[in-house]
Amino acid sequence: MTADQPMYALSEEHQAIREAVRAVCDAKVAPYAAEVDEEARFPQEAHDALVASDFHAPHVAEQYGGAGADALATVIVIEEVARADVSASLIPAVNKLGSLPVIIGGSEELKARYLSKLAAGDGMFSYCLSEPEAGSDAANQKTRAVRDGDGWVLNGTKRWITNAGESEFYTVLAMTDPDSRSRGISAFVVEKSDEGVSFGAPEKKLGIKGSPTREVYLDKVRIPADRLIGEEGKGFEYAMKTLDHTRITIAAQAVGVAQGALDYALGYVKERQQFGKPIGDFQGLQFMIADMGMKIEAARQMTYAAAGRSERGDADLTFFGAAAKCFASDVAMQVTTDAVQLLGGYGFTRDYPVERMMRDAKITQIYEGTNQVQRIVMARQLLAGVQSDL
Ligand SMILES: Cc1cc2nc3c(=O)[nH]c(=O)nc-3n(C[C@H](O)[C@H](O)[C@H](O)COP(=O)(O)OP(=O)(O)OC[C@H]3O[C@@H](n4cnc5c(N)ncnc54)[C@H](O)[C@@H]3O)c2cc1C
Repeated sequence: MTADQPMYALSEEHQAIREAVRAVCDAKVAPYAAEVDEEARFPQEAHDALVASDFHAPHVAEQYGGAGADALATVIVIEEVARADVSASLIPAVNKLGSLPVIIGGSEELKARYLSKLAAGDGMFSYCLSEPEAGSDAANQKTRAVRDGDGWVLNGTKRWITNAGESEFYTVLAMTDPDSRSRGISAFVVEKSDEGVSFGAPEKKLGIKGSPTREVYLDKVRIPADRLIGEEGKGFEYAMKTLDHTRITIAAQAVGVAQGALDYALGYVKERQQFGKPIGDFQGLQFMIADMGMKIEAARQMTYAAAGRSERGDADLTFFGAAAKCFASDVAMQVTTDAVQLLGGYGFTRDYPVERMMRDAKITQIYEGTNQVQRIVMARQLLAGVQSDL
């Protein structure tokens, strides 16, 4: 331990990042959150503000022109954006998700080409793993990539792709050797402008309405050989390693939206009067508030501990990523539901932000693997004897 490092606390740099992101979000993200939800439109103002402040893809290394944020700093950015608007938080989160397979498996040439564009704000990155028949059973890929001369031809349908249509770049998983199941899957970079790429209608969703979710259609899409990420047949391995790191960003979204709901409810219970006093004076509500704050803090600590493991690449990252995502998203659902309760009938209306937060929180229990899948992952790790290094 070093004398100048406070014990078990955020560094000054991490605290400064939180303050800087919060200032951007207070000014340029939160004011548009209700409108973005109501109109189910892309949060363009948030996107532009995040690009201008270099928080749109903070994980990209400095050598590619990025901010070079470590895993914990990236989590703090996503948490703060989600506190203001979960839809907008999918911009930094999915930019990491889409580009991480390139970072994990890609050649130096591929990284230099795409990460520099991502960092410069010249195009977002999406991640195309899911398909109509490949949800929790993600290895059941029907999209095919076949060698053709010095390139590849891709055919298939990707479903539920976040930022589809908005992103310029897509990491696409496709079967290259169907007999080898997960070891026959490869990963490619596809560009929006590639001939044969098109998009389905935006899904009509319960929450995160500002985050576009569409199908991606690949119809005889011909790409050069250098768009293969890493080695043929290793795509599924890159995709799963990616999720180990990015499930922590979903946990961050969950912590952020829960904190946003608690902060709003705290202000409300001090103002709203019933029986001649602020409703926050009632012990029944104080106990709810205490539980909300306690659960959020537990989720945050677990998420930050997992981020440390992501940064170091610890052996217990898979367990911690799944545990943080599962725990924090369950907390987000409980806390946002309780925030609606604290506002009574007003909480149930769109005049107040907590019903949006409750709808937005739900997705964190579903994507990047449902919470049932996270429990499968955790149990496997525990049964295999992977121990926490604490
Ligand atoms: C808004 C949104 C955005 C998304 N963004 C992306 C994206 O950008 N890229 C991408 O690739 N995917 C994305 N997804 C897909 C998402 O990751 C999947 O929806 C998720 O993994 C679940 O797959 P599924 O919907 O097919 O559900 P299914 O796999 O059909 O699951 C249905 C139910 O069965 C349960 N279940 C399934 N298998 C088991 C089992 N073995 N044991 C116990 N229970 C089980 C599940 O937990 C769930 O409750 C997104 C989804 C949504 C809704």
